Amino acid sequence: MITITAEDPECAARSGFLHLPKGDVPIPAFMPVGTNGTVKAMLHSSLKDIGYPLILGNTYHLYLRPGMEVINKYGGLHQFSSWDGNILTDSGGFQVFSLASFRKITEDGVTFRSHIDGSKHQLTPESVVDIQTMLGSDIQMQLDVCTAPGIKKREAMHALELTTTWAKRAQRRRSEKDGSYKGFLFGIVQGNFYKELRKRSAEQLSELELPGYAIGGLSVGEEPEIFRDFLQFTAPLLPVNKPKYVMGIGTPDYMLEAIEAGIDIFDCVYPTRVARNGTCFTLEGMLNLKNTRFRADRLPIDPECSCPTCSRYSRGYLRHLFVAREILGPMLVTHHNLQFLYTMMDQARNAIASGTFPGFKKSFLERFRGKV
Ligand SMILES: [Zn+2]
Repeated sequence: MITITAEDPECAARSGFLHLPKGDVPIPAFMPVGTNGTVKAMLHSSLKDIGYPLILGNTYHLYLRPGMEVINKYGGLHQFSSWDGNILTDSGGFQVFSLASFRKITEDGVTFRSHIDGSKHQLTPESVVDIQTMLGSDIQMQLDVCTAPGIKKREAMHALELTTTWAKRAQRRRSEKDGSYKGFLFGIVQGNFYKELRKRSAEQLSELELPGYAIGGLSVGEEPEIFRDFLQFTAPLLPVNKPKYVMGIGTPDYMLEAIEAGIDIFDCVYPTRVARNGTCFTLEGMLNLKNTRFRADRLPIDPECSCPTCSRYSRGYLRHLFVAREILGPMLVTHHNLQFLYTMMDQARNAIASGTFPGFKKSFLERFRGKV
């Protein structure tokens, strides 16, 4: 499912393609997050215009609302939402840990109460595979046990062992699905911030020979140096011929750091979430349109960006839209942020192909951080 076409000679960065059921995905790739079957404030056609072939959906949210009974009637999430590109769905585990008002983990699975109406539900490794198969996910994630930073080693050990057991159960369930479903099941490396445990988790999951692997439990509020250290430590422990995914990364510095460590795909709500608040990516760093200094600014968000927003609208007009709470503001800035990151990833892929990724990363970030 993966073809590597270039490897940077000075770091672990690699480029190529993921071969997914709804078409090839050039990697490394950022995936916009479509929590409820929609990337907020974006038309599907706009995502296609930019070039995004793979978006993310949240199993937890879709399972609770509209519910599987509804989505099943349409034959899956692609048909229900009218998106013909690829979809990766998470397992719902992370949302159960971060949103549910009550949760209890047993060997069998996790029981929780909905954050919407308080109703009680249980997810098991098997039911999560069933749900994602019903959704028609092109990549589905195993149910894993997420842990908070700072927990004791014994607790982290238990969580990773249970995650491995659940990966085996998920794999068995996936193998029982009929051949008409082509989605790939990925395992998730846990182990908290203990290197010995990360190694153990990576080894156990690699033995299962799953189609791909995610590194979970990173980018959860730890210092950037710790993130970098654990990413660089964990990524090489996974098989080279399998896709590698890190969840929750959506700023240029973290994304380029991940690419340098050999990561192929990542996702984050950050670029679209901050867009709805008027915060934009530019080559010179972040910019917030609500700032009064943009009141009559005639420049586009980023003069070097070729997106429809920057081709047509000034910072002053966009600022006005946010001040007047017009819905077009979030739409235009979301488009800009997603096109900005797509362009950056395109440049990163080209830099890897020409063997110059570390230089590209350095000059991009120096300018982005305002050191030029
Ligand atoms: Zn733009």
